[in-house]
Amino acid sequence: MSKLILLLFLGLLAYLVFKGLSRRAARRREAPPPRSPERMVACAHCGVHLPESESLESAGRRFCSEAHRRLADS
Ligand SMILES: [Zn+2]
Repeated sequence: MSKLILLLFLGLLAYLVFKGLSRRAARRREAPPPRSPERMVACAHCGVHLPESESLESAGRRFCSEAHRRLADS
């Protein structure tokens, strides 16, 4: 019985570590400033072009601002 509890505990620990690592990796992916010429994307609502890192993504489409993302969603 105690083995089962230990297994559950280890599973939970592994889950938390994995979750923490993936969250840190995601933050690192967003954070670095673009080094090479950046890909430009067009806003799906108004068509304005902007760097991919500054765009907002929703359902595979890119938007220039939160307002346009919301407008397109509704
Ligand atoms: Zn827009």
